[in-house]
Amino acid sequence: MRDVRRTGPVAGLHYPPSAGEFGAWFSTDADCLDYLEWLRWPAGLVCPHCGHRVGWRMADGRFRCGACDGRTSVTAGTIFDKTRTPLTVWFTACWLLATQKDGVSAQSLQRALDIGSYQTAWTMLHRLRSVLVRPGRERLVGTVEVDETFIGGEGPGLRGGRAKGKKSLVGVAVEVTAPRGIGRCRMAILDDASAASLHPFVTGHVEPGATVITDAWPGYSGIEELGYTRDRRSPRAARLRGDDPFALLPAVHRVASLAKRWLLGTHQGSVDDAHLQSYLDEFVFRFNRRTSRSRGMVFYRVCSSSPSPTNPSATATSSSTPNRRRTRPPDVLAGVTRRRSSGPRRTDRGGPPDQDYAG
Ligand SMILES: [Zn+2]
Repeated sequence: MRDVRRTGPVAGLHYPPSAGEFGAWFSTDADCLDYLEWLRWPAGLVCPHCGHRVGWRMADGRFRCGACDGRTSVTAGTIFDKTRTPLTVWFTACWLLATQKDGVSAQSLQRALDIGSYQTAWTMLHRLRSVLVRPGRERLVGTVEVDETFIGGEGPGLRGGRAKGKKSLVGVAVEVTAPRGIGRCRMAILDDASAASLHPFVTGHVEPGATVITDAWPGYSGIEELGYTRDRRSPRAARLRGDDPFALLPAVHRVASLAKRWLLGTHQGSVDDAHLQSYLDEFVFRFNRRTSRSRGMVFYRVCSSSPSPTNPSATATSSSTPNRRRTRPPDVLAGVTRRRSSGPRRTDRGGPPDQDYAG
């Protein structure tokens, strides 16, 4: 009855359709385990070591393979692995993350679920976030605006005496649809605004064949040779025409300001530079599903995801804790230069391209 492969996930069948139903589905840890078991082995246990299909459950809840004697648990390799937090708490955190319009902060999660420490709540959210980026997701297509912006280091909620002004340079790519619509977006932290950083950002997030709208920054020169049509918009020409040069890339600026507002609103700006990318991933995930009506589906997706080798942050999170005092290595900020006062600030440091976009 629950063959998700034939129908796709269905509310009420594959995930709870409402908060009330959620409570009824997952009132105990055993309920949660049953659900994870069904997600992982819809046709019954498959030994991850040898592929054998017959085994038995041991007293501690793990499974023992009847062929190779290997042990496994339904949570092995997933974000729920080796956790001391009850699965009911995990599931509720996941449900809140999925169904709250703007997500949930570690502080409000801690309060809502009566979680012992802020660190625990933070780590749970960080792990849940780590599976939001689907490996191999499709790149943006059609007409895509690309620009960079500085994000972070300006929140009123920063603790630990962190100096202000530690901003990260973030690449933003947004699909534009006629006449003034906005499609999907992507955001990734960049080392700097050099071609060595911007070219991989474009190729990593935009499908070749697309028309890429940029400003006149030379870091974008040469993307034509990578299979894109470049629509270069010159701020100087716009000024000469009497147009607003900041309106040249309206979709990118709209998305960037929404992201900044979300970081300041839901998270009170208390986002560590070292973890900014995972927050950007969550923002992009939400933005790209802003019209989706079934938020319970997001719950299903997160529960059925397991960390992938192409998403290293997902496996590295189990021991990570929030570290508000951590700042970027000083060399990242060295050599920050200001372009002509009309333009955005960019770093001219050069250096290796940042390939680690986590999807
Ligand atoms: Zn086996």
